[in-house]
Amino acid sequence: HAKLERDRISTFSPEFDINTVERLQLLADLRTALDTGQLHVVYQPQTDLTDGRVVAVEALVRWRHPERGLVRADEFIPLAENSGLIFPVTAFVLDTALAQVARWHAAGLDVRMAVNLSARHLSDQGLPQQVGAALTRHQVPASSLVLEVTETAILSDPARADLVLHALRRLGVSIAIDDYGTGNASLSYLKRLEIDELKIDRSFVSNIGADHHDLIIVRSTISLALALDLRVVAEGIEDAETVTALRGLGHVIGQGYHLGRPVEAPELERRLGIAPVS
Ligand code: C2E
Ligand code: CA
Ligand code: CA
Ligand code: CA
Repeated sequence: HAKLERDRISTFSPEFDINTVERLQLLADLRTALDTGQLHVVYQPQTDLTDGRVVAVEALVRWRHPERGLVRADEFIPLAENSGLIFPVTAFVLDTALAQVARWHAAGLDVRMAVNLSARHLSDQGLPQQVGAALTRHQVPASSLVLEVTETAILSDPARADLVLHALRRLGVSIAIDDYGTGNASLSYLKRLEIDELKIDRSFVSNIGADHHDLIIVRSTISLALALDLRVVAEGIEDAETVTALRGLGHVIGQGYHLGRPVEAPELERRLGIAPVS
């Protein structure tokens, strides 16, 4: 995956491309952004590949910066994580996404909403209560919320993460392992943690039509996950060929540009053919 790594780094990335002064400026700007409504949330559909139905959407944060224009999540989430601003950012995304899914439920669109958590949340004992309060506030059933965490985030402090994840699951929220395969967790570890869903990282998925090794890895991951009763989401589906290949591997939910890019709520409503709700 050396090439993928390189591509990622060569796009704008706080760690590599901007100096400390610029980083501090962006951080100050992010504080303002939170206070002045420059952040918003886009939604990417997750489609059940067996019947073509959209079963969930992932909430992804965006920043409309007054000078820089649209700033993508991976350009400022790392900054937010290092500064503590990740807490208000996540609170904003959770609140916005739950308000949105409540409107969709009212309009008859029965989808789960997936929200990303960062490593720092997994040592925050107050998180389960905060999530519970947000669900109540928006009258969204806990079973409609999926919280996505990475293996790396869990493994940075497994004992504390266990406590927080357990409390979240007791609420009825489901937990997804994001970017699965890029960290070090084993499936038995995931089972012990009572995980509900596994999202296979796009570095394995996007090339299964052409790369036989990737196909073998994805096929065995899917069959193990399904045997453990986990929901499986394949990320980074960029063409029809990949959909066809995945359909042959079991009950898989797909996410990727080919199935739908992240878009603002009204655009998703148009695409799904439901009357616009506001
Ligand atoms: P992620 O959670 O793995 O999110 C998927 C990323 O892959 C998104 O980038 C999405 O736009 C992109 N993507 C979706 N389909 C495809 C595809 O077919 N091909 C390719 N090449 N990319 C695809 P985005 O929105 O820039 O987010 C990047 C990362 O930033 C996310 O990775 C997640 O780790 C983080 N992030 C995004 N929103 C939030 C948030 O609200 N809170 C937190 N804590 N992290 C967030
Ligand atoms: Ca995610
Ligand atoms: Ca992912
Ligand atoms: Ca990621």
